Amino acid sequence: MTEDADVVVVGGRIAGCATAIPLARAGRRVIVLERGRAGSNSLSTHGLWPGGVGELSKLGALERVLELDPPKVRWYVLHHLGYTIKQLLRPVDGFDYVICVARPQLDTALIETAREAGAEVREQTRVTELMWAGDRVAGVRCTPTSGGEPTEIRAALVVGADGRRSTVAELVGEATPYRGSKNHRGFAYWYMDDPHAGTEWRHTLPLWRVGTTASLVLPMPENRMCVALMGPVADLPRFRADPVEMWERVLRESRHLAARVAGATNASRMFVAADLTSFFRRSSGPGWALAGDAGHFKDPVLAQGMRDAMEFGRRLGETAAPLLDSPADLDVALRDWEHARDRACLPMYHFANRETCIAAQQPAIVEAFRMFARQGETSEMADMFSRVIRPDELLTPGRGIRWLTGALMRPGADRRLILGQASHDIPIDVATGIERARGRFRSEGHHPSENAGWEWPPRRAGDDATTSEPSDPALQPAAA
Ligand SMILES: Cc1cc2nc3c(=O)[nH]c(=O)nc-3n(C[C@H](O)[C@H](O)[C@H](O)COP(=O)(O)OP(=O)(O)OC[C@H]3O[C@@H](n4cnc5c(N)ncnc54)[C@H](O)[C@@H]3O)c2cc1C
Repeated sequence: MTEDADVVVVGGRIAGCATAIPLARAGRRVIVLERGRAGSNSLSTHGLWPGGVGELSKLGALERVLELDPPKVRWYVLHHLGYTIKQLLRPVDGFDYVICVARPQLDTALIETAREAGAEVREQTRVTELMWAGDRVAGVRCTPTSGGEPTEIRAALVVGADGRRSTVAELVGEATPYRGSKNHRGFAYWYMDDPHAGTEWRHTLPLWRVGTTASLVLPMPENRMCVALMGPVADLPRFRADPVEMWERVLRESRHLAARVAGATNASRMFVAADLTSFFRRSSGPGWALAGDAGHFKDPVLAQGMRDAMEFGRRLGETAAPLLDSPADLDVALRDWEHARDRACLPMYHFANRETCIAAQQPAIVEAFRMFARQGETSEMADMFSRVIRPDELLTPGRGIRWLTGALMRPGADRRLILGQASHDIPIDVATGIERARGRFRSEGHHPSENAGWEWPPRRAGDDATTSEPSDPALQPAAA
């Protein structure tokens, strides 16, 4: 059977729906093909900073999400090295709160919004091949996952919004990223009933760093919470082998986290993620584009992926909608879209590459914490996560020099160590500044933020649940 559409979007979660919504609103015939079922789980924690809440609003999905009554989290609190940075979140596009809604509900809200806009979302349909007209992608072949006859859908544009192990990227010959960075942190997380119903904790996002592990608590609807640990990826086999022992060890080491979760009940099983290689792929070509994680992924330690999947999915749809009847113009515009995405995402990519490294905290960073803690609730720390400012606008060269000098001047300072650490970090900042100033597209040169040893596809660690395959029973939350 052969059908016609203006655009086929492969993958019906965040990036896929964000791309489809503006296209459908512009009157284009959009078919979204999703191999899983709407409302299935995905391997992801779900923190959306105010900028991400703003993106939901731009897509017209926020009202549906707010109907789930997620706690509006207005405080960001970072405890580290004896300092506490407590910031009242600043509004972005009028939204001054973080939300955390489980992916089944969040993705369903986006799918419903896409359908309402006029997109056709077909679940349990897997794309297996592309159709070509010369060197131009001209459509897809897909099959119901339950079996049955394949269908061909011809389209002016095929968008791969099909995640990190993108089928579309593979079929256009771009599966291997042109740049990447190895992650050194992994995730272990659980869902639980929050023992602090009706208190300020329900409106606070706390993050603790103890030793090499960061932990955070994200309040969720229905008095649930997501408790996530981001520690050395090398620890994950021990988490899988004995989750209870590891959980108790973490609580022993982090008294703040222990106090926050004391009395929590109805815990889910543990979810772990180890293969979190960051990358950029070539994300556009004749008749095709890659949106969301399919085109670019950064270590989730900064919780930026869903926001970026929405913003650049939406921008892709808006860019393509008026140009679908003019292939040459469409290709140029897709290239420009990809360039703009990279420019916007590179600073956070480099910062996440740094944050994923497991290292003792530097004395110069301790000076930074001291300064941010003094700023009180007007601290700018969380503005970076909301993408109001870039990392280099928060951690400016002037501040860097002040923190470095402050660390060197402290009585008993280990100056060799401090200067050695600075000689690692300063080249990263300089290279990031140069890269931004040059604005080169698809630069393959090595950047000092990029951790060596990454490979594609990432090697799977044992029986790790590392994919977002929604039909994977390991991803279905269940009460322990
Ligand atoms: C452990 C972890 C924690 C994270 N925490 C956060 C966080 O707190 N905040 C945040 O903003 N981001 C977070 N992220 C990142 C975030 O999850 C991703 O950036 C986001 O899910 C990207 O959405 P997407 O739509 O691009 O891809 P996906 O969510 O991966 O969706 C891709 C879809 O494509 C479908 N698909 C694949 N192949 C085919 C095919 N051949 N045919 C049809 N369909 C197909 C899949 O079934 C899937 O549903 C986290 C990620 C991880 C791994």
